Amino acid sequence: MRRRRKAECLFVIYHNVAFVSAADRSDLRGVREADFERQVAFLCRHYEPLTMTRLVAALDGHDRLPARCFYLTFDDGSSEHLAVAERLRAAKLEGAFFVNTKRLSDRRLLTVDKQRLLQYATPDFTEFLQAFCHAAKRLCPGDARRFELTAQNIKEAETFYAEFPFYSPPERFYRKIRDRWLTEAQVGALVDELFGQFFDNEAQLLRTYFMDWDGLRVLQSLGMHVGGHSHAHPLLSKLDAASQYADLQEHVEQLRKQLGVRLTAFAYPYGTGNEDTINILKQEGIRLAFIEDGLPQAGGLRDPYRLSRLGPEKLDILMEAADTGVAAHLGETVSQA
Ligand SMILES: [Zn+2]
Repeated sequence: MRRRRKAECLFVIYHNVAFVSAADRSDLRGVREADFERQVAFLCRHYEPLTMTRLVAALDGHDRLPARCFYLTFDDGSSEHLAVAERLRAAKLEGAFFVNTKRLSDRRLLTVDKQRLLQYATPDFTEFLQAFCHAAKRLCPGDARRFELTAQNIKEAETFYAEFPFYSPPERFYRKIRDRWLTEAQVGALVDELFGQFFDNEAQLLRTYFMDWDGLRVLQSLGMHVGGHSHAHPLLSKLDAASQYADLQEHVEQLRKQLGVRLTAFAYPYGTGNEDTINILKQEGIRLAFIEDGLPQAGGLRDPYRLSRLGPEKLDILMEAADTGVAAHLGETVSQA
């Protein structure tokens, strides 16, 4: 298929910025401070910055998006996002910060936070993976073979998640078990158990790595957009419509009460949702929602509940291509069902 050069929005998704992990390894989805600065400078040079107001105006037909534009988004409420917001403000840029509410109201880490710490802040990922596989086998004894940490299983996971080249094959195996074979409740129980084995300082980790409600108020005062990312960060597509509704309803309410925010934009936890999710978002008056498929958003805002986002590693590929004058091919990726 031949690709025509057409209008392009780069919606960039960051998680951690300048994340310093408890060990030597850092979150692979994060980005070093210097790389972040380099990326923002590149975008400002070649693309026009957007704001949420302008996005909604374009959606309503009151404005047209520039041919090449960008908007930076930040998921999961990391404490480092406050420093990012200050820098964006100084550069006269707006960013969208997609936050979860359960962590803030319960003052506890979410399952996704614990997973990330287990994956990236334990001394040895393999040790965590072994413990995870062992616990999964105990939970689902009938399917024990699929949870074995064998070369064959890891190879299959590597192919299965071929669209995530930045994850190592063992990490893809972990994701495959988590996303395909365990329910959300099972994942939560396993992660809680393993977190207790590897960490004993939840309150401190919470304070170190995440914003509280006051942090979000500072974000607002810096002119940043606060968007929705669900209450508890579940993999929504694995939940029935009623459970999705319960999570999202609580989320919308808490943001309204605590921050006076009436949600305009949403980022799907784990980058994906389903038709039920979209129906609920529409019902709640949310105007646009971001997936994470690693692609630039082409064709304007025609499908506003599935706006493409790309991470820093894909942006680097585009930047290299721009430097060498070669058209970048990011590859067709599919979002997880
Ligand atoms: Zn997230």
